[in-house]
This record gives sequence, structure tokens and C-alpha cells, in this order.
Amino acid sequence: MEGRRGAMRDYDVVVIGAGLGGLASAAFLAKEGKKVLLLERHYVPGGYATSFLRGRFEFEVSLHELSGLGDEDNPGPVWRLLEEVGVARRVEFLAIPEFYRCVLPDADVVIPVGRESFEESLCRAFPDDAEGIREFTEVMFRFAQEALRANRVGMKMVMEHQEEFPTLFACFGKSLSEVMNPLIKNPAARTALGVICGYYCNPPSLLSFLTYALGTVSYLRFGPRHVKGKSQALSQAFMDAIEDMGGEVWLRNGARRILVEGDRVRGVVAQDGTEILCPVVVSNANPYLTCLELLGRENTPAWYLRRLGAWSGGASTVNLYMGLDCDYRELGLAHHETFYSEGYDLDANWMKMRRGETLEPSDIAVTAYNAVDPDFSPPGTSSLVCTFIAYAEPWMRIPPERYAETKDRVARRTLQLAERVAPGLSDHLEVLEVATPLTNIRYSRNVGGSIIGFDETFAGTGMVRMPAEGPVRGLYFSGAWVNIGGGYEPSLYSGYLTARRVLEDLEKGGPLSEDMERLRKSLEKQV
Ligand SMILES: Cc1cc2nc3c(=O)[nH]c(=O)nc-3n(C[C@H](O)[C@H](O)[C@H](O)COP(=O)(O)OP(=O)(O)OC[C@H]3O[C@@H](n4cnc5c(N)ncnc54)[C@H](O)[C@@H]3O)c2cc1C
Repeated sequence: MEGRRGAMRDYDVVVIGAGLGGLASAAFLAKEGKKVLLLERHYVPGGYATSFLRGRFEFEVSLHELSGLGDEDNPGPVWRLLEEVGVARRVEFLAIPEFYRCVLPDADVVIPVGRESFEESLCRAFPDDAEGIREFTEVMFRFAQEALRANRVGMKMVMEHQEEFPTLFACFGKSLSEVMNPLIKNPAARTALGVICGYYCNPPSLLSFLTYALGTVSYLRFGPRHVKGKSQALSQAFMDAIEDMGGEVWLRNGARRILVEGDRVRGVVAQDGTEILCPVVVSNANPYLTCLELLGRENTPAWYLRRLGAWSGGASTVNLYMGLDCDYRELGLAHHETFYSEGYDLDANWMKMRRGETLEPSDIAVTAYNAVDPDFSPPGTSSLVCTFIAYAEPWMRIPPERYAETKDRVARRTLQLAERVAPGLSDHLEVLEVATPLTNIRYSRNVGGSIIGFDETFAGTGMVRMPAEGPVRGLYFSGAWVNIGGGYEPSLYSGYLTARRVLEDLEKGGPLSEDMERLRKSLEKQV
């Protein structure tokens, strides 16, 4: 629906941005009877959870594998969340039979779903490390279980009963390498476990074991999923549910300004000039943009800006979206997700990319979407995406006149790597679209084109996160930048957590001055 220029409208809550976090917050608030308006700049909802058309192909922009869903019989946290807001049954989810396949110079291993199969397949591939693999799996599952329990019972109880959380205390604050390397010696086995780090946007030595364990256990317990109709179908289902619950969604009409009075939110000015009055704003746009452009530097307290300045955005991606004129199986592919790495030092490759010493990948993910959805692309064709983690800074330094040629060079190199798992691929390209970190920035407005909000390594714990509460009363954030971080599962959950915080505050007439004071102190401590 289009907003009306100049009209004054009253809502309980305005949500800025229809990424997964914004959609989830809007849905939960609408379900609780709040009068909600969701504003999105684009003409479709979803943020990164979207698709686009090129030629006769509709490409999935982001989703490789959805974690934490399960199904009605084995419901994961995402299923429960979607069920609560009436989204679960509006979407058809597709089970991905195996977690991933990993192809290395001298190993080729399929990592199945389920703890026992995961362990067995790795032990079979790397028998000399079997004992270490079993111990690593045990530590990972115990750690995830204790971390989830700690989250439920709260830190006070954890500190008072430390003996009940031995693995949590032993591994907390450690990186994946610090936990894995003492147990597993074979570099190929470490790489087979480490290639999935791309999902968590950090290499093994920087990735907090907490993030790795929670994510991986979620995939193994509930099985990875995709969505019939691509992630756009999930985003659209959210939008439909919000409207059915009485909420309004304005597409192609984002927020231009957040209005404040004293230290409180007063409303929002939409891009088309409509002035909307509301006591609460939830921003799914990243906090830098929200504070510097929408709220204005003059309205953002220095302590909040210092906190933003102390942290950096996380990694971005380069993607090759490919429409092929053949069946993916003719190229020797059989699995939804295949990782290929040229060598065994994932950290070294990553650092070169981070420092801008190279733009070209040494390891990539090749996703063959037709493996789980035969109708993903027109009959007789297939849709493939090659992805690798990249950072925006080196891409920003390329002079505009050299951008296209650089993209071509990087694409050629990526195709060379992809040919190692899908020989003949280049001969079947009907459509090729290359997206860089700059594409991600342009589309999402996320700083550095980050796909996970802030860098997940902060303080090495993976747990020191930006809270939902913003710098002025009545302003909150939701999505990858706050609460529990990025990815589909965390961003959706973030939206739910923010909605809960808003409802609690509305109930008590808050946030109160003392709440803001507590927030200031905790953020200053983090800086
Ligand atoms: C290539 C790629 C692959 C990925 N693969 C996976 C995967 O396999 N599994 C997984 O779990 N995660 C994956 N992710 C990560 C996941 O997609 C993101 O972490 C998640 O979607 C972020 O959601 P978000 O709520 O933070 O919002 P975002 O997607 O960042 O959306 C923010 C929204 O705010 C809007 N906005 C900004 N400014 C304004 C304004 N002024 N007014 C109105 N609206 C505004 C934007 O238009 C956008 O719609 C991938 C991401 C990418 C890019």
C-alpha cells in the first residue's frame, strides 16, 4: 500500500525495514494487537531474504540452508516462532537431505544430518582422527546444550552452579581452532569441519566456538531446509500474515527521518513525506544508518556513537548467480551444497581476502538448488550459485572504471574453482550475474555489505552483542545487528526478542530513565 504524502497517521509502532528481523518484529507486535506500520524502501519485502529475475531464471539471493526449523514432528525454534505468528503453514519447506559435501585436494566427504551420521561419516573419511572426531562431536553437542540452558536460566544461576556447566566454562571464549585443533590432527579433517565457517562469516581461528557449535548443532538436529518459492516466499508469507493480523505494510516507501522530542521518539517521516506519529520505532535498518541518517547525529548521544565506532561490520559475500542450460547432474553434482577448497589453510586464505591482498577466492560454496527443488528453474535447466566470503573495503578501493573488469576477473577465477566440482560448467552458462559486497551495500544499505551485522568475533565470546534498545527512548533495533546476531535463524529470533522487549516496556510505561542509564553504562563498559 502506498503512504499518503503529508498525512498525519497514528500507530503504536512503526517498523523500519522489512528484512527478516523487521518482519518478525512487526508480526509479533501485530499479533499482540498493536497497531503496526512496516516501512520498506524496496518494492518487495525480505531484505536479503529475496529473489531476483534474470532471463528465464529466478535466483535465490541469499538462502543456502535454513537452520533451526525442523518440522511439525520435530519442531525447532524457528518452526515454533513461525507457528506463533501464523507463517509456518503458509510456506512449504523443503528438507535438504545432507548438511554438505566437502571436496578437498585429497578428500571428498559428504557430511550428513544427525549427530551419529555426522560423526560416522567423518570417522570413516579420517580414520586416524576417529577418536578426536568423536570427542569433538561430544564437546560440541554438550557445549551447545549447556549454552542453551544457560540462556534459559540466566547468568546468575550459571555462576552459582558452575559445576553443572563444565563444558561451557571449559570452552567459553575460545575459537573453533582452539577447541578443534588439539583433538583433530589431520588438516583435511579440520578443513572438512571448518569449511562451514563461511556460514558464520569467520575463519576457524577467529570464529567463536559458541557460534560454530550453536549453528552446527542446530543444522544437525533439525536438518537444513530450503523454501519452495525461494526465500521470497517466506518473506511474502510474513507480509501476508502481518496484514491479516491488522498491520500495514508500505513498500517502496522507506523511512526518511525519525522524529524525536527531548529524549523520546515522536514519529517517523516516510520517504514520500508522510508524517507518522508513534511512541515506538523498531529499526531493522542497521544502527549506523539509523543513527546517522534517520535519527541524526545531533540526536544520538555520544556514548552510543562511541559504541558504534568501537565495533565493525561483519563479512560480506561475492556471488555468481548462474542459469545453466542443462541438468546440474550432467556436471557431476549430486548435492545441494558443495564446498570446495584448494588447500587446508582456511585462515590464511581468509586473511588475504580481509587485508585486500587478493579478491580471488581459494575456497567456495557451490549451491545446486534443483537438488532439493526440481522446479527451482525452468525444465531442462538448473540454477547454481557460487559464493565466497569477501570484505567491502578492497572492493571500495577499485576505481569505478575498473570495477566491471575486476568483477569479470574474479568471476573467471571462481568459475575455475567451480569447474573442479562441476567440470564443463562454463560451457552451459546461459545467464551469469555477479554480485559483490558493493551490491550487498546498495541493496541492503548494510555497512560493508555485512550479511551478519556486527563482526561475530567481538571479544572472542560471540556473546557480547548489541542490545535491542536504541539510544533514545522508544527506539529499538531488530535483525542481524542486535540481540543474537546474523543469519536467518538469529535474525528471525532477534525480531521476536525485540518485539518482546517493546511489549514489556510498553506495559510498564518505559523505558524509564533508569533503564536508559543502565544501557549507557553497559555500552560504555563494552567500549
Ligand atoms: C549471499 C548471502 C547468503 C546468505 N546465506 C545464508 C544462509 O544460507 N543461511 C542463513 O541463515 N543466513 C544466510 N545469509 C544471512 C541472512 O540472509 C541475513 O543475516 C539476514 O537475512 C539479515 O536479516 P536482517 O533482519 O538483519 O535484515 P536485512 O536483510 O539486512 O534487511 C534490512 C532491510 O532494511 C531495509 N532498509 C534499510 N534502510 C531503510 C529505510 N531507511 N527505510 C526502510 N527500509 C530500510 C532494507 O531495504 C532491507 O530490506 C546470507 C546472506 C547473503 C547476503
